[in-house]
Amino acid sequence: MVRCRQCELRQFLAPHCRRCSGPLPPPDVVREVVQVDSFGGSAPILPMAEYEKLAIQHAIKSTQSVIQAAESQRIGKATIYRKMEVFNLFVRNDLLIEEEPRV
Ligand SMILES: [Zn+2]
Repeated sequence: MVRCRQCELRQFLAPHCRRCSGPLPPPDVVREVVQVDSFGGSAPILPMAEYEKLAIQHAIKSTQSVIQAAESQRIGKATIYRKMEVFNLFVRNDLLIEEEPRV
């Protein structure tokens, strides 16, 4: 679509304005679709659960608090502890999070 600079009429691209016959400008810039690629092109494809685990680990390490980590992930306290158990994650000394080998 183009907008006539004289009469402001928006219209399909044509040599002259439909209303005032004035010359039309070039068409509106077509908005480019930018591919969001925050993982990087060469990142391995992981199951969602792996990203969930990484997100929880990162949040706990960054906040140094399970409660704040839960808030940052917009999940409840019970949920984060349940997921930590599923992912075999433990907090030690209120700071460290580590993965312990399953016995
Ligand atoms: Zn016009």
